[in-house]
Amino acid sequence: MGLDVRTIMVMFAMLAFMFFCLFELAGLRVGRIRGVRQWAVANLCIGLGFSLSYFFGRTTPGHDWAVVIGVTLIATGACLQLTGIQAFKEQPTHWRLVMLFIGVILCQSIWFNVVHPDFHIRAIVNSFFFFFIYAVCARVLLVKTEASLRVSYWFTGVSFAFMAMVMLARGVIITQSPDQSIGLHVNTAINTMPFIIGCLVQFCIAFGLLLMLNHRLIADVYQMASRDALTGTLNRRRIEEDALRLRARCMRTGETLAIMMIDIDFFKTINDRYGHPAGDKVLCSLAEIAQNSIRPDDYFARYGGEEFCMLLTATTEKEAFELAERLRLAFAEFTLTLGKDRINVTVSIGVADSNDIGLVFEDLVTAADQALYRAKQKGRNQVITYSSMRANDTL
Ligand code: GH3
Ligand code: MG
Ligand code: MG
Repeated sequence: MGLDVRTIMVMFAMLAFMFFCLFELAGLRVGRIRGVRQWAVANLCIGLGFSLSYFFGRTTPGHDWAVVIGVTLIATGACLQLTGIQAFKEQPTHWRLVMLFIGVILCQSIWFNVVHPDFHIRAIVNSFFFFFIYAVCARVLLVKTEASLRVSYWFTGVSFAFMAMVMLARGVIITQSPDQSIGLHVNTAINTMPFIIGCLVQFCIAFGLLLMLNHRLIADVYQMASRDALTGTLNRRRIEEDALRLRARCMRTGETLAIMMIDIDFFKTINDRYGHPAGDKVLCSLAEIAQNSIRPDDYFARYGGEEFCMLLTATTEKEAFELAERLRLAFAEFTLTLGKDRINVTVSIGVADSNDIGLVFEDLVTAADQALYRAKQKGRNQVITYSSMRANDTL
């Protein structure tokens, strides 16, 4: 192979400096997402480490401080990639272990470069150390992945795993190699191949980390766009989306879909009497009580103002009525204490199901709204089903 290790090292360093700039720029607009600055500094360390080893590293055995510092910087970079990933995933970082690891790399580097120079052992030990750190990075990415980020986690995790395998293979091959003079700058396949592959995989890793960031930002934006800012429940846009999926599911399985429209009684009076912040607290309390009373398969959303909507899967109107009654009672018994004021509020609820109305969401909302309106007419603080309302109307 006509490739020169030192040329590849320069390429590696340039690539790392480029990624440093890229992550620095990306880090400017990531808000509360953590870890990106650590990836930037990691690439700076890796770039500096390779530059030092290239410009000042010795090509013959002897005291080699440039390689000591270079390898320690590269190891620090690899560790910062790991701690960045942990910060990104909001996992705790064991900084003592990280410092210990870097310390061990530094000590062994001093030993094999300065105290007892030995290129062969140095290459083996470094390969195994880097195998370890890249394997840990791969493990952190490949276990417990969030669904919305799975593809990017897997891509980056597999890249780290591949890098770890390359390092392991390099270590094993050098161990078996009879050539005792193998050094960092020797142009043998054992050196050039891992460097070329390392260069490419480093590119994949940086690409994967940027992909993770991109997917996280998209997931955050989607989350913001589908949640109500005040109560934290789903918003109208999101429940309309979910209703479309539920419609397809119910058509396939033949399940009944029930709907509840919930409206707070005389809410305007609460705002007028106690102020808007008190009204907001009432809305949050209702949302919390309702969220706690639904099953994981059900959907609860703020439909608008002081009106909420609940979609109940595999539930008939009768079953939804029972849940609505429990909810109405729970809310009527709830007292919100604000300073000296004790606020009691009631809700009116309209219920319908797809057996009567069909699975079109707008039709279900209209039917439940009509039942809700009837509950208001009849004096509020009650639950009315669409079928009972229709039965009364035909009498
Ligand atoms: P009814 O029993 O007939 O439902 O009477 P109501 O007073 O509850 O209904 P109305 O539609 O007259 O008033 C709804 C009020 O809800 C008016 C509006 O100011 C208030 N509102 C809407 N969104 C919010 C919010 O986010 N926070 C607060 N505090 N009030 C809100
Ligand atoms: Mg109201
Ligand atoms: Mg209303």
